[in-house]
Amino acid sequence: MNDYDRRAYILCMADDHCTATMIDTKLGMITHKTFVEPIELVYASDKSIYKAVKKLYADALSPTSCIEIVKDNRPGGAKVIATKFIPKRFKIIGLTGRHYPISKHFIKRGVNDFSILTSQLTKKDKIFLGPCSFVNHDCKPNTVWISRNKLETCVETVRDIKKDEDITVYYSPYYFGVDNEECKCRTCEKTHFGYFKQKGFYSACITYVEYIFN
Ligand SMILES: [Zn+2]
Repeated sequence: MNDYDRRAYILCMADDHCTATMIDTKLGMITHKTFVEPIELVYASDKSIYKAVKKLYADALSPTSCIEIVKDNRPGGAKVIATKFIPKRFKIIGLTGRHYPISKHFIKRGVNDFSILTSQLTKKDKIFLGPCSFVNHDCKPNTVWISRNKLETCVETVRDIKKDEDITVYYSPYYFGVDNEECKCRTCEKTHFGYFKQKGFYSACITYVEYIFN
């Protein structure tokens, strides 16, 4: 393994460990895993990554945090909710994720590709893990990604969020197929878009419009 992928590998290992011991035990279910085989933490950089990821989860689970990771009945199995009112333009530090660049052969389709960021500019891939990866996608989200530093990204609210409201972010236009045509988010469900877009529904609308104008 080259140094380039080693950092990503340790991130995966730490995230699998933290989700298993800190999230799954709380939720009573198994959440996302990258399924890397644990290896020995040899270098100072290995230990530093492992420690940093543990700190991210400790921050997310802190009693002073304004968020909670809970079970969800929808696809994905888990979601993030607000435990108190969160004002607009608030950086939610408890929802931070760490990212490292990866080579193409690091990606295993259907295994660890659930949290890959691809730069639109450079087309290079990164693996992105941490409490932030529990934030579900919505086509009309209440937060946006915001960089904390070179290695970490968290979310910032784009409007006031009420207590118990789901915290969501927009992943990308292609995460759920081209133009998110397979998206099953709450907004798509409500507005009949994405997966819920039915030909019958739209042809009915068009017929109705024609009828009015004729
Ligand atoms: Zn959607």
